[in-house]
Amino acid sequence: KLNISNSQALFEEALTLIPGGVLGARKPTDFIDGEYPIFLESGNGCRLMDVDGNEYIDFLCGYGPIILGYREPEIDDAVYAQIRDKGFCFTLSQKYQNLLAKKLKELVPSSEMSIFLKTGSDATTAAIRIARAHTNKLKVMRCGYHGWHDWCVEMKGGIPAKFYEDVFEFQYNRLDQLEALMAVHGQDTAAIIMTPFGHPNHQKMQTPAPGFLEGVRDLADRYGAVLVYDEIRTGFRLSMGGAQKRYGVTPDLSVLGKAIANGYPISVVTGKQEVMMAAAHKLFISSTFFPNSEAFVAALKTIEILERDHVLEDIWEKGEKFMAAIQALMDKHQVGAELTGVAPMFYITFEKDDAGAYKNKRNDFYTQLIRKGFFFTPHHHAYISYRHTQADLDLALTAIDESLVFVKEKYS
Ligand code: PMP
Repeated sequence: KLNISNSQALFEEALTLIPGGVLGARKPTDFIDGEYPIFLESGNGCRLMDVDGNEYIDFLCGYGPIILGYREPEIDDAVYAQIRDKGFCFTLSQKYQNLLAKKLKELVPSSEMSIFLKTGSDATTAAIRIARAHTNKLKVMRCGYHGWHDWCVEMKGGIPAKFYEDVFEFQYNRLDQLEALMAVHGQDTAAIIMTPFGHPNHQKMQTPAPGFLEGVRDLADRYGAVLVYDEIRTGFRLSMGGAQKRYGVTPDLSVLGKAIANGYPISVVTGKQEVMMAAAHKLFISSTFFPNSEAFVAALKTIEILERDHVLEDIWEKGEKFMAAIQALMDKHQVGAELTGVAPMFYITFEKDDAGAYKNKRNDFYTQLIRKGFFFTPHHHAYISYRHTQADLDLALTAIDESLVFVKEKYS
């Protein structure tokens, strides 16, 4: 078992200072209590070091932003230079917004105009406001996780019902559910917002079933709703133009964040001019920090490197081999483990049973991995980055093999 005593001591202290100790999905209960570190000291490439000196090969990539690697020198140097030589927080905008908007227009099929914000939740909420202002309609159909704001968060504490009562949920690949919702609410629907790839929280990942994305596009057109793709996770990961480019269906608006700047805080709403122009005249979106240029510089440099070094091709190639090898191990050991997703983002889950016994297998499997120094988690899918070398992935494969064997022996 890992020594995580420094992590635990910091967490005990944090509980007296920060409600819940740490925010959101980074709580010990979101992993396996007592097995995972809670605080990190540093990271480099695909490796993390915790506050007890344990090192891990990391497969969470900061929950998505790290597409190249931790502490990527070329990006950090560009940011340091900006801060040192020009400054980044000013009374007026700097030119980088134009440069990044032009680049997005070149890469993302739905992009004609963009606005830049900081977090994914900023951007999904802005997209909904733009869609409502553009259509003068109220209702929203949604599919997937879109952040912590009032209209979409799962835990409803502190939120008046009127803020979400016009928002309806459908499941990924269930066109029938959306059809039924639109049959009732279609005329009043401002937006259909969805992740173009199926990555519902804690569940198996899903690629689009034939006709699903096209069917949603048709429904949006038929009722005059704005189709919004939430590409916070898939943008600059599934392809340079996001999942929309890979799967060939173009939304009206897209929301990007995470991988666009390798960890620096920036998010985007980008889309068709006709729809985006609502943001110029009908509504107000502004924040003290939205124009800060350090994250724009990081995004421009990240995109430059992704293109120059064919990073996503590399990730797909390594990832596909890695997934095939994992699948072969699962086929061999037959412990009820399941692999879903695609090369840049994939998930190992365990076949559910009514009694819930699968949870023990799952927790034993992930406990083995973290003890061996491989940071995967039971409750969130994995990502791989450019800095995962073939050698790193081979090490991970050995650890996965041994962990499957452990589960097999314990439960046979
Ligand atoms: N949409 C998706 C698909 C996400 O994965 C996330 C973050 N996990 C968000 C929106 C919200 O982004 P943020 O946490 O930066 O507010």
